[in-house]
Amino acid sequence: MFSIQNNQHDSSYLSLVSNVGPFNEFIDEYDPNEAFNTLSNARVLVIGAGGLGCEILKDLALTGFKKIDIIDADTIEVSNLNRQFLFRSGDVGRPKAEVAAEFVKRKSMGKNLSIVSHYCRIQDKPQSFYKQFDVVICGLDSVEARRWINATLVSLVDSNLNGLIPMIDGGTEGFRGQSRVILPTVTSCYECTLDMITPKTTYPVCTIANTPRLPEHCVEWASVLEWPRRFPGKKFDPDLSEHLDWMYETAHRRAIHFKIDGVTKELTLGVVKNIIPAIASTNAIIAASCCNEAFKYVTSSNPILNNYMMYSGDYSIFTYTYSHARKPNCPVCGNHPKTIKVPGSWDLRDFIEHIKEKHDISIGTPSLATATKQLYFRSPPSLEEFTRKNLGRKLSELLDDNEEVIVSDPKLPISLRLLVKLE
Ligand SMILES: [Zn+2]
Repeated sequence: MFSIQNNQHDSSYLSLVSNVGPFNEFIDEYDPNEAFNTLSNARVLVIGAGGLGCEILKDLALTGFKKIDIIDADTIEVSNLNRQFLFRSGDVGRPKAEVAAEFVKRKSMGKNLSIVSHYCRIQDKPQSFYKQFDVVICGLDSVEARRWINATLVSLVDSNLNGLIPMIDGGTEGFRGQSRVILPTVTSCYECTLDMITPKTTYPVCTIANTPRLPEHCVEWASVLEWPRRFPGKKFDPDLSEHLDWMYETAHRRAIHFKIDGVTKELTLGVVKNIIPAIASTNAIIAASCCNEAFKYVTSSNPILNNYMMYSGDYSIFTYTYSHARKPNCPVCGNHPKTIKVPGSWDLRDFIEHIKEKHDISIGTPSLATATKQLYFRSPPSLEEFTRKNLGRKLSELLDDNEEVIVSDPKLPISLRLLVKLE
């Protein structure tokens, strides 16, 4: 159904594609009428109806897609209105997916356009729901939701590549963004690239307490150290203006003391809420790129992105496109377990804390088992109670060296295989 660049040598990739398009070497074989038909009949699912989702939906409709579904579990807030341009102040409180679909249909952005909205979480839909689409486009701000849909789409593909649905993923952060085309089980998947996500910025407590150099250090000092000291047991609420004013004034006094510039109310709010500004035009650029990839895939008009495009507008502007490789030990699309070395003297609780902190695993509430025994399960409660005693036992008692441990999380349709080497 789609074309690829000629320098692509992956045989499974090649077996999927036909190099036919108006802008490549098979011009004569390209049938624009057929392309128009596939465009009109392709079913596209848009996940997320926020800043990116609004743009993607509008772009798809104007590009000529006719059968679009959009899914989102959020309702509209006042703070969305500056960039989520399908919403008006009268829509505040209503489901984003419904309002976005109504708006685009009302404006008749395309004849015979059908947009079906789904006001729910993606996890609430069964596999059969996802199977009906030709392309899935994600405009999400949540890593967890991306991991979930990625694993779901990988699980739909059989060994003959039947059931393959491309996942086109857009993401933005301030002036930066990326778009990527994931062909589940063929190219690297979302999980393969989990270690590329920048962890939340944290500052060492000793710097915050003793040697602040940045305005952020002063805000962190006020929030992490001063607030609990002054108001023990009271939760800080960034949406209450008297709380925020106190935080700003406290951080500002500290900044003056250490001769640091730049503590403003906006910065204070940004640090305490960990806000990265959403920029409408970055969303527009990334959404357009995602929509173009969907168009190229569906109509076979041009080679699709292979497979990762980074856009940066932070310092001047540049884009960089490269092919991210698959990871053989990816827990979703790979066949090999991931090796992990830990001291045998650790108890199971230490081990669980260790894997929770590991960035390339990022499993928040793990349950663990080996091929023969349950090590620790979070649910149901009876099993939790039964396995709880293992938390205090040493790994060397529970596991053989090089034994495989299966880690799962109820929030993710993933079982991670860890080969545990005991030191
Ligand atoms: Zn993968």
